[in-house]
Amino acid sequence: MEVRKSTNKAEESDVIVIGCGLSGLTAAYEIFKIEPNTNLCLLEAKDRLGGRTLTHEIDIGDGQKAKFDLGGQWVASSQPDILEILEELNIETYPQFIDGTKVMQVGHNNVIRTYQSDIPSLGSFWGVIELQLFIWKAERLAKQISIEDPYSWDQAQEYDAMTMDHGNVC
Ligand SMILES: Cc1cc2nc3c(=O)[nH]c(=O)nc-3n(C[C@H](O)[C@H](O)[C@H](O)COP(=O)(O)OP(=O)(O)OC[C@H]3O[C@@H](n4cnc5c(N)ncnc54)[C@H](O)[C@@H]3O)c2cc1C
Repeated sequence: MEVRKSTNKAEESDVIVIGCGLSGLTAAYEIFKIEPNTNLCLLEAKDRLGGRTLTHEIDIGDGQKAKFDLGGQWVASSQPDILEILEELNIETYPQFIDGTKVMQVGHNNVIRTYQSDIPSLGSFWGVIELQLFIWKAERLAKQISIEDPYSWDQAQEYDAMTMDHGNVC
């Protein structure tokens, strides 16, 4: 597949894919597999591809650099579609390294905590209760939404415009 940047607004395309995160790129890839001669136009608002996946090279001292994922990075057996495409594209996966002491920076005041368990403790019994209440609420809301037509839900616009920073969703 030939990929090039275009500034020609008048160019004609067979298919226009809007958004070049994993969904848009996968859609374009699937179309390309079916019909390689399709004149595909991928429109992306940002100056990079990948959407919510983002890998940054960070200086780790001694003149060395390492790659860190700042967005999506883990896959699990509950994600058969993405596992299938990774295999098809020969993209390697490896188990998450979880031995030893982990360091986590959380909250607005950037508190740094360490822990030994596989996943961090939520700190308090009430934290666990709050998380479970949030999960129940999210599952209840998800049941009201049609996967085929999510915008038919009467609160779709309100929730779609909401970020995690909006705070009190529960
Ligand atoms: C910090 C973080 C960690 C995560 N960790 C994981 C993980 O470990 N495992 C996992 O499975 N998932 C993880 N996710 C979620 C995963 O990254 C996303 O579900 C996935 O990347 C979403 O892909 P998408 O293409 O659907 O949407 P996006 O990645 O959001 O892509 C949408 C793209 O469309 C563009 N766009 C939007 N509107 C327009 C427009 N009008 N015109 C042109 N372009 C437009 C946006 O700029 C963006 O590039 C994580 C997400 C984050 C933020």
